[in-house]
Amino acid sequence: MVVTRFAPSPNGPLHLGHAYSAIVAHDLAKERGGRFLLRIEDIDGGRSRPELAATFRDDLSWLGLAWEEVPAQSARLDEYEVAAATLAAMGVLYPCKCTRAEIAEAASEMGPDGPVYPGTCKFDPPTPDQAVAWRLDVSEAMSRTGPLTWVDELAGEQLARPDLAGDVVLVRKDTETPASYHLAATLDDAADGVTLVTRGADLFAATHVHRLLQELLGLPVPTWHHHALVLDREGRKLAKRRGSPSLADRRLAGTDGRALAAQLRTGQMPGGITLSPVLHGEP
Ligand code: GLU
Repeated sequence: MVVTRFAPSPNGPLHLGHAYSAIVAHDLAKERGGRFLLRIEDIDGGRSRPELAATFRDDLSWLGLAWEEVPAQSARLDEYEVAAATLAAMGVLYPCKCTRAEIAEAASEMGPDGPVYPGTCKFDPPTPDQAVAWRLDVSEAMSRTGPLTWVDELAGEQLARPDLAGDVVLVRKDTETPASYHLAATLDDAADGVTLVTRGADLFAATHVHRLLQELLGLPVPTWHHHALVLDREGRKLAKRRGSPSLADRRLAGTDGRALAAQLRTGQMPGGITLSPVLHGEP
């Protein structure tokens, strides 16, 4: 049975790009007689606005989608902590005190998610009184697992290259919501029984890291489907700050949500909006 999910973060309103992502996940599940889940990824520290989750549900209903909702990430902090402790006991995490500014200054390589961490604290560990994040020691982890592969339905079999993103943070300094996206989403997809992870091609590189975490933690390995992105008339990802109306704006203005969903499905979109070619592996 195919299980897909749409996993929005309530950091800001949903826009057409999110609608497209939700429709892809919904339709792939329905076409194959499977289940489509909604998971609210609400642990982004100060940026998360829990009240937006209700708006998201209204937006999805307005698009004509039906879903099963699984627990939000804020309900699963204990599980993230247990997994982090398991990884720490395996010796594949190390503490890091560096600030974003220090990393930007010290990094010599750009990865898919910004500067690649240069390993400062691996070689010069923080003192016990310092606030720390915990990073995945990718070379140590890969030496335990050996080479790994994963499959994207559109791009085919991939050799896992978690080294491209470097030693990513798995446990953040933030004590209220400590798990990073990589750790939380990987654990959740396993806990929710997701068999087909659908998301935008901009998250293709994250999958290399998730595949490594699955192997370390003995989690089931789903298939992935990284889909096209919805672009504005200048070819950029849609963003509220660039004036792209949110789904809620369109809904409250009386737009027909089901008709809009039908347009998104055919790629015929209003106002110069287009679908990107699916550029796998490009940041
Ligand atoms: N919460 C993530 C986002 O909104 C979801 C990423 C994913 O689907 O794995 O970008």
